Amino acid sequence: MLICSTVKDLREALSSKALSPVGFVPTMGALHAGHISLVEKSVGENPVTVVSIFVNPAQFNDRNDLENYPRMTESDIKLLSGVLRTDDIVFIPPEKEIYPGNEPEVIFDFKTLDKVMEGAFRPGHFNGVVKVVSRLFDIVMPDVAYFGQKDLQQVTIIRELARQQNRKTRIISCPIVREPDGLAMSSRNLLLDPEIRQHAGIIFKTLSAASELICSTDISEIKEFVREQINKTPGFSLEYFEIADDLELKPVTMKTEMVPGRRYFGCIAVRAGGIRLIDNTEFNCSVIKG
Ligand code: AMP
Repeated sequence: MLICSTVKDLREALSSKALSPVGFVPTMGALHAGHISLVEKSVGENPVTVVSIFVNPAQFNDRNDLENYPRMTESDIKLLSGVLRTDDIVFIPPEKEIYPGNEPEVIFDFKTLDKVMEGAFRPGHFNGVVKVVSRLFDIVMPDVAYFGQKDLQQVTIIRELARQQNRKTRIISCPIVREPDGLAMSSRNLLLDPEIRQHAGIIFKTLSAASELICSTDISEIKEFVREQINKTPGFSLEYFEIADDLELKPVTMKTEMVPGRRYFGCIAVRAGGIRLIDNTEFNCSVIKG
């Protein structure tokens, strides 16, 4: 695999290889098995894969979160070397390569997509995500880009971004990879206090139990159940829990609002000690549980 840190080197490497389709996996590093599952999928489907590692300041609405975000480039490279092939590329740009300062300000209108859930609790977050993904798409020009279902709202917004920009890039959503106790893998899990980590399985346990209730119980009761389960766990507090479809991301308050044929997901954000964690799982009556 080749490691590039400038746009020029990356473009030259991709043109000299002239391989297609190009698969792309954008990350912020501190890689874990969730990221690697995306990389393996891209490697399995494309003759060349680009993995980017860039902690994007524009998407952090909390300065502390940005400063504390784990950075471990050396071990990331080691992990990637076990998955990537000779022709694959790791792109690790400094900030000035991504934001040289002369990029045009682009305003997007995502209607309600970026206003609910994460959008409501992290003002400016999706602006920053869209800014970096748009810039990375311009640089890498991927045919296919792989994102995790863990960030369900992000995938929906990026699909809409690709549509609005008439991109050729296909957006693929990949399943959530979990720890043995069900906790969704996340770079932020490294920051959890050991005592908090020990109890963090409660998030997926609660989501799974709540998903079992969807056919028989009112949504307001399901929401109350989730709030109770999370808040009674010492050190944990619920930020939000919503049931929304993955197309319009419109949280429903009553089951009669659920559109037949759409896929619904219970989406949760929790404060675990000082760390904010998100997760989701499918909430459909007909869903087959694996
Ligand atoms: P991040 O480094 O957190 O920006 O994540 C990079 C990509 O990996 C995003 O598309 C995430 O949704 C995806 N990802 C993060 N955690 C997981 C996970 N546990 N399972 C699958 N994909 C994940």
